[in-house]
Amino acid sequence: MSTSHEGKTHLGHTARKRFGQNFLFDQYVIDQIVTAIGPQKGENLVEIGPGLGALTEPVAELVDSLTVVELDRDLAKRLREHPFIQSKLNVIEQDALKFDFASLASDAKMRIFGNLPYNISTPLMFHLFSFSQHIDDMHFMLQLEVVKRLCASHGDSLYGKLSVMASYYCQATPVVMVPPSAFKPAPKVDSAVVRLVPYDTPPVELHNVESLEQVVGAAFNQRRKTVRNSLKNLISEDTLNALNIDAQRRAQTLSLAEFSSIANYVYEAGSE
Ligand code: SAM
Repeated sequence: MSTSHEGKTHLGHTARKRFGQNFLFDQYVIDQIVTAIGPQKGENLVEIGPGLGALTEPVAELVDSLTVVELDRDLAKRLREHPFIQSKLNVIEQDALKFDFASLASDAKMRIFGNLPYNISTPLMFHLFSFSQHIDDMHFMLQLEVVKRLCASHGDSLYGKLSVMASYYCQATPVVMVPPSAFKPAPKVDSAVVRLVPYDTPPVELHNVESLEQVVGAAFNQRRKTVRNSLKNLISEDTLNALNIDAQRRAQTLSLAEFSSIANYVYEAGSE
């Protein structure tokens, strides 16, 4: 995200651009987000990127324990030494992109939230989708455009690989709009909080998720081409027709169900 971080200090911490640090300080927005999350005692709550605690503190006030995953060593130390909530926090000083979230799974599925570093938000979404069977729900502050991508349906201009994969794993709904003025330093783009609720049963029957990623990746890598062209190394025009998919269509018009039927064909053909 483009933002001016030069000399921006908040609560005695100089914001680090490389860690995507834009700290929330607007109390009204913070209250809206905590209300949207609705944390309850006994839940398996996990925050990614707690930073200076803008969300951590009000959530910890409502519950007895909370796990936080923070990459910045100074911020992790501050949280371990937090004057009021340190006893409630399980501070994991790690890169969320590499963290094995299954290690936090218990009888209670995880409820994950965070104001995410925008520079890693898309790969982090894909990383988290791979743990969706352990997750009850997720609430994330993201760049508004990424929220729109997550919630887009076929035909929408921002519909792409992230939209298709998200719609396989989760129900996605925007819940809070957030202006740049809610952060220090202020980013140059609008933000929004999205609620992602993983499905217990996926909405389509898929034989292999990697095949779906492969097909959707190939289709959107050449999004202006017809699927006859963009998918020609994976499936023939005749087979597309047999699947009731017009080969002249472009990736943006294909639904999750249509991508899944192509992916199932590609997987079965590959395993013959
Ligand atoms: N939650 C705080 C708030 O709302 O003010 C901070 C949000 S700031 C946008 C993102 C936070 O994620 C920072 O604290 C940053 O250090 C942390 N972070 C950046 N990259 C990370 C990573 N790969 N894994 C875990 N935390 C990361």
